[in-house]
Amino acid sequence: MSELSDLYQEVVIDHCRRPRNFRALEGANRQAQGYNPLCGDKVTLYVKLEDDRVVDISFQGSGCAISTASASILTETLKGKTRAEAQLLFDRFHDLVTGKPVPPAPDLGKLAVFSGVSEYPARVKCATLVWHTLRSALDRREEVVSTE
Ligand code: ZN
Repeated sequence: MSELSDLYQEVVIDHCRRPRNFRALEGANRQAQGYNPLCGDKVTLYVKLEDDRVVDISFQGSGCAISTASASILTETLKGKTRAEAQLLFDRFHDLVTGKPVPPAPDLGKLAVFSGVSEYPARVKCATLVWHTLRSALDRREEVVSTE
């Protein structure tokens, strides 16, 4: 168990220090903002969607280590995925961080490091903020997403 949490820490810290795809995205045709007032996390997500597939994705924002790492790993994971695949991963990820049993497929890959979040209910919103923001971007809703 302690090895798992070490891995979790290591991946989260790495993505927090060097967030991947941390930039505005030129040519993005979807964009949404998310805000988690409980922690102060803010994220802007940029998506370039072509034929229902995420061809490019990036983010900007500021927040705690978990929200930043979650956004960073989300952008890495979703590049090249279809909208349906993204929705499925959102459902699985939500189950994972809220401590529900998660089926073996689809493979969560690096997203699995957030399993430890289920032990810290206050952190669940930090981890899921960017996912709610993604859904808003894909649904083309314009308002700022709040986890409250
Ligand atoms: Zn947070």
